Amino acid sequence: MREILQQVKCFLLDMDGTIYLDNEVIDGAIDAVNRMREKGRVIFLTNNSSSSRDAYVTRLNKLGFNATDDEVFTSGNATVEYLKAHYEGKRIYLFGTKSLHREFIASGITPVDDNPDLIVLGFHTEFDYNELEKLCNFIREGVPYIATHPDINCPTARGYKPDVGAFIALIEKSTGVLPTLVCGKPNRPIGESVERLLGLKSHEIAMVGDRLSTDIRFAYNNGFVSIFVLSGEGTLAEAQKMERMPDVVLPTIAHWDE
Ligand SMILES: [Mg+2]
Repeated sequence: MREILQQVKCFLLDMDGTIYLDNEVIDGAIDAVNRMREKGRVIFLTNNSSSSRDAYVTRLNKLGFNATDDEVFTSGNATVEYLKAHYEGKRIYLFGTKSLHREFIASGITPVDDNPDLIVLGFHTEFDYNELEKLCNFIREGVPYIATHPDINCPTARGYKPDVGAFIALIEKSTGVLPTLVCGKPNRPIGESVERLLGLKSHEIAMVGDRLSTDIRFAYNNGFVSIFVLSGEGTLAEAQKMERMPDVVLPTIAHWDE
């Protein structure tokens, strides 16, 4: 095993392109994840805030990963942790799915309908137009807002669907206002939340992912060990254009402990 990985106590795993590709498990990924569990903790990390932890656990287990609830962390969970640390007791208006509402409530934050101190923009796939209007009105009135993650599009079987980043652009067009903070990868807040939850130092955490602009940039921004896998979107040529190479570059996750 490479020296830089000796000290790692938690592996943060990107999913699509890293442990599976569309709905196919990458060869050897299940065993690789099990070997990581022998070394420390494993957390499946996703920027998507439209589904709950449960939904991811179900999906991962259908593929054979035997994941537990505390092994999944979404940008929605990160946002909740961030709010608890920095906005305790504030009135939060949440623009998000029913499942994100349930996760907020289960974590002790009950979203309000009026007079918010702060707005959270999640990946809302169930909204009606009145909700969007209300959201923009609050923002226009000067209520600050934070977004769960920056992704502009979310991959689907047909191509893409508009994600939070596209909503940020819409809100900016309508109100002229940008979010004060965006929690998900590659930004610091989701990393901070993970560190706080695990009680680990940054060099004890490794991020494994296939995208340079999110996963690897996220590792750099947080001081995590960066493990770049070539099984998904990013290429070696693109990695060589970064200001420094990822700490570890692998054909697939199956090779992490060679
Ligand atoms: Mg990926």
